[in-house]
Amino acid sequence: MNKKLIDKLYHESLLSKDELLLLIGTTTEDEIQYLCEKANQKKEEIYGKSVYIRGLIEFTNYCKNDCYYCGIRCSNNKAIRYRLSLSDILTACEQGNALGIETFVLQGGEDPYFTDEKILEIISAIKHKYPKKAITLSIGEKSYESYQKYKQAGVDRYLLRHETITAEHYEKLHPTTLSIKNRVQCLQALKELGFQTGAGMMVGSPYQTDEHLAEDLLFLKNFQPHMVGIGPFIHHNDTPFHNFADGSIEKTIKMVALTRLLLPNALIPSTTALASLSGDGRKQALISGANVVMPNLTPLPVRGNYLLYQNKISTGTETGESFRLLKEEIEAIGLTVDLSRGDYRI
Ligand code: SAH
Repeated sequence: MNKKLIDKLYHESLLSKDELLLLIGTTTEDEIQYLCEKANQKKEEIYGKSVYIRGLIEFTNYCKNDCYYCGIRCSNNKAIRYRLSLSDILTACEQGNALGIETFVLQGGEDPYFTDEKILEIISAIKHKYPKKAITLSIGEKSYESYQKYKQAGVDRYLLRHETITAEHYEKLHPTTLSIKNRVQCLQALKELGFQTGAGMMVGSPYQTDEHLAEDLLFLKNFQPHMVGIGPFIHHNDTPFHNFADGSIEKTIKMVALTRLLLPNALIPSTTALASLSGDGRKQALISGANVVMPNLTPLPVRGNYLLYQNKISTGTETGESFRLLKEEIEAIGLTVDLSRGDYRI
């Protein structure tokens, strides 16, 4: 009976690959529900009822990479490209600040226009204005030296999903210029440099098997990231994967719950991809182990162009109204919005 396994996972925060495979594969409703309940319980033991809010600023959708799944890959000439100016970025921060948000996440494609010098200029401008706020970067694979400079400039956290840990599978999702080896080296460098480091994966990406997902969980357990981003793969019409089915909500939620039980202290967002695919995807994740939400602060005129996949929602905080709705959604499931920095708890 898999409920025994779930109890074991709850108590020991560890399972073997075969045991994980049983839970990843279960379709029994009451087992899934039990898994989600235990994950929720574990989250509450560490973080209580708090849902941490991160203001997301998608500051460039130019990208030199050509990941087969991603809508802003360099070969997609239908993508409408944009870059935010420093003053646009600061305006977005002001908007977040007005709402009391204490963490800004700067995400973008790997855009060579944003040299280290430009990134450092942005970071110091934000730090100068908001010395106490946390800054998270998510701009892909860089050299150790670049990461070191960002850290010295005051960046607190870095998100770099590993996407899939199995080399064979990684190669099916990426051109040969990219490798899981380098991705993991980057993650190791980030951790070593003292960033709160985020890894994570897409669920239901093309050619993915449950075995790949089990390996992802074992990698996470071993690497011990501070943050884990997990979202369903969603197709984009102008990519090589346009014909592939979207990932399943149920499996994504299971992976969130399993991750919480393996890594009790992790900060786990209820991702935009989940919310985009299903009306109550966000809520489901928040009662199954997730404890972070990232409303969008990207200026409205360009927000729709950061289109990683079809029908990406762009709910943000552009009006007090939409932020109030987010709060209401969170409170309706008995949780509370926590605007503090929400650092990793040891
Ligand atoms: N350039 C940065 C940010 C990438 S976009 C980096 O390399 O880390 C952020 C995340 O969006 C990616 O890590 C990927 O997991 C996710 N993503 C991209 N395309 C997607 C798709 N089609 N469906 C679901 N998630 C996708």
